[in-house]
Amino acid sequence: MKTLSKNVFWAITTLLLIAFIFSFFYAEQKQPVVLSIDQLVLKINSGEISKIIVNGNNLEIELKNNDKAVSKKETEAGLSETLKNFGVNPEALQKVNLAIKEESGFRYWASILIPSLLPLLIIGVFLWLMFRQAKTGMSQAFTFGKANIKLFSQFKDQITFKDVAGLKEAKEELLEVVDFLKNPKKYLEIGAKIPKGVLLFGAPGTGKTLLARAVAGEANVPFFHISGSEFVEMFVGVGASRVRDLFQTAKKAGRCIIFIDEIDAVGRERGAGLGGGNDEREQTLNQILVEMDGFERNDERIILAATNRPDVLDSALLRPGRFDRRIILDLPDINDREEILKIHSRGKILSKDINLRKAAERTPGFSGADLSNLMNEAALWAARKNRKEVVQQDIFDSIEKVLLGPERRSRVLSAKEKEIIAYHEAGHALVAASLKNADPIHKVSIVARGRAGGYTLKLPIEETYLRTKSQFMTDLSMMLGGYIAEKTTFGDISTGASNDLQNASELARKLVTKFGMSEKLGPITYGKTEELVFLGREITAGKNYSEKIAGEIDKEVKALIDKAFETAKKIIISRKHVLKNIAQELIEKETLEREAFENLIKGFKLKPIAIQ
Ligand code: ADP
Ligand code: MG
Ligand code: ZN
Repeated sequence: MKTLSKNVFWAITTLLLIAFIFSFFYAEQKQPVVLSIDQLVLKINSGEISKIIVNGNNLEIELKNNDKAVSKKETEAGLSETLKNFGVNPEALQKVNLAIKEESGFRYWASILIPSLLPLLIIGVFLWLMFRQAKTGMSQAFTFGKANIKLFSQFKDQITFKDVAGLKEAKEELLEVVDFLKNPKKYLEIGAKIPKGVLLFGAPGTGKTLLARAVAGEANVPFFHISGSEFVEMFVGVGASRVRDLFQTAKKAGRCIIFIDEIDAVGRERGAGLGGGNDEREQTLNQILVEMDGFERNDERIILAATNRPDVLDSALLRPGRFDRRIILDLPDINDREEILKIHSRGKILSKDINLRKAAERTPGFSGADLSNLMNEAALWAARKNRKEVVQQDIFDSIEKVLLGPERRSRVLSAKEKEIIAYHEAGHALVAASLKNADPIHKVSIVARGRAGGYTLKLPIEETYLRTKSQFMTDLSMMLGGYIAEKTTFGDISTGASNDLQNASELARKLVTKFGMSEKLGPITYGKTEELVFLGREITAGKNYSEKIAGEIDKEVKALIDKAFETAKKIIISRKHVLKNIAQELIEKETLEREAFENLIKGFKLKPIAIQ
């Protein structure tokens, strides 16, 4: 776009210039009277002429009365000869002052050259521009095979393990790599073989890229960074040549770290994927393998790679001698989250009484990237409110924003809609508050958020990797609480419950087919989810069971839902007055935080119900 407007600008300027030059010449020539030769001869004979200047074929004539005129003589002949031919009186001619002007000077040449050369010049410039463009295109084509390697110098922008919170085990493992890079001799002398490749696995945003940079920072070596997707180009062979270039560049640097981010882009299982056209990727992958095998024992390059899809990687990459070290980065637990929040509050002005621990409590499942985003959102929000520092509430508000999308207070609810949503959310909250091992309610709200009309946030007290069947049943009951509350209060159901029902059905099906939590079907998993590599999603659930079992599964799913439904229904019907109270409070206040909700519930002295 830029070059186009630049070209247009130049074209217009050139045209204007040409027009200007031409008009300049024409304007000059038009002013004096033009005489023909015979008119001139008549005037000479009658003695009116005082001077004639011969300028090439042009005659500049001065008359006695100081008028000026111009004329032209024949090209071949001299002036006197021409005049003679037209019958000039020689005596009269002698009285005229004749002068010859040397035909040179800039104007003469310009008048000849510009009209003839200008078109050539314009064409030339045009060609030159075209050629230049073609040339840059060409050189781009020639440097295609060069890897777009980013070298983070050791000194600028240095990140160390201090900047990475949590990930203790990963850091410990990587310390070995750091130590080797710092003093390789120690290892080589004893005859140890240092791992060439270390693969970092972890969900998106868990800090894989960050950690890789931190390793380079700790070891103080050059860090070559390239993303797997950069290998994959439109042109065949480019990926492989980029790999070659990458390893060669790194070799020149000596001791260094080569980091291949998102390696799954090239390292997918060969022969997999839809639609063919994977040859290019295979070649690239092969080249990586070849380069890695070419390392000598005392090679001081170490390759780190990162992926969040270890399941799709080609097994050749994972073979001993290649990426044989695998390090798993987990989502941060509560302590790590607090640490990460601390790191990302550096450089932000926080109010003194801020408690990051409380924020960490409310953010299970957040990745490091989410938390970093959270702190930034909080700062943005505080600034928008014209505050000089970030307060606790900013952080809490941002958590929900990151979780659920921004609040939509602008959505106007009719009184009836508001009542329905209030009873619905109160239903969820009441069931949760009534069951023994339910997670505590952190917030109930009827303010629309993202796509949800209202929401009830419950968060586990402690993070658990394992959940039990009774916990799942509690969850199921709670999910259905909204639906039942609507049904028993209004005798009608709104569309607001559909999402809950879907979640409940999915969960119940998982309990039966994945977790073996159905008594009837027993500890067997049913169905095999195959992943379509190309789309990277679970699409087809291969059915490895009979139609009969399929019927049983459906029955069991229904039985689980029914059971959860009964539990929830009992609670809501027997505690109708509590439901009404919560709903009224919600209609009035719209949002109840944990404390307010617990205070409200306390008044009713509800006995916790155990679920089997
Ligand atoms: P990944 O490569 O695993 O997708 P990144 O390393 O790019 O994730 O992390 C994204 C951002 O999240 C980082 O730049 C950093 O700001 C933040 N982050 C992630 N994990 C951590 C952590 N453990 N400690 C501090 N910051 C983290
Ligand atoms: Mg990354
Ligand atoms: Zn609901």
